[in-house]
Amino acid sequence: MHLDVVKLIYELSKEEHEKHIRDLNTYWVSDLVRCLLKKDYEVKYPELSLRDIFIPYYISGTLIHKGLQSILKEKFGERVETEVEGVKEVLLPDGGKVIVKGRVDAILFSEGVRVGLEIKTSRSDLNIPHEQHLEQVMIYNWLMDLHHSLLIYITLDRVTQFSVLDKFSESEVADIIVNAKYPRYSWECNYCVYAVMCPYKRALGTK
Ligand code: SF4
Repeated sequence: MHLDVVKLIYELSKEEHEKHIRDLNTYWVSDLVRCLLKKDYEVKYPELSLRDIFIPYYISGTLIHKGLQSILKEKFGERVETEVEGVKEVLLPDGGKVIVKGRVDAILFSEGVRVGLEIKTSRSDLNIPHEQHLEQVMIYNWLMDLHHSLLIYITLDRVTQFSVLDKFSESEVADIIVNAKYPRYSWECNYCVYAVMCPYKRALGTK
């Protein structure tokens, strides 16, 4: 038997990528906490985003997620669900409706309440918890009616967790969509595959 582990990891990474089915009326929570223009580009130019499938740094993040999710399953059995999807319809100020979808890494049923668990990996622990991660978890708290969530960081410098009790409201989520800023953070363009065509691209170091 010829065992090709690299191919196996590639397939896993591809499956993860394909879980986020794209359409213009559906906003994933991950879209809402970054430059929203990337979502439109991903619908129009899906092939360009395939580049991310085999970036080793992302692959190590995916494997850490899988490992921690398995450990949670072993430890808590039926009290934990992994990769839980939430969906809500959101009314926009102009009367239009959009779908907001999210997939939290795990939900633990503990002492009669639902607790979200969101895992983040990074090289450094500088400035954690990051604003965009806190917002992501606050949107999950609203989307999946969670009592609170734990934002868990696995970094080379620190392994830690933050409790997040706040939650967004439907109108705050609608506000992100109608008042989108391109980019949301000035550093995003440096890592964006669509920077090669985007008129809003910010040069490194500009505000
Ligand atoms: S280049 Fe910048 S502004 Fe354009 S889509 Fe990418 S992140 Fe957004």
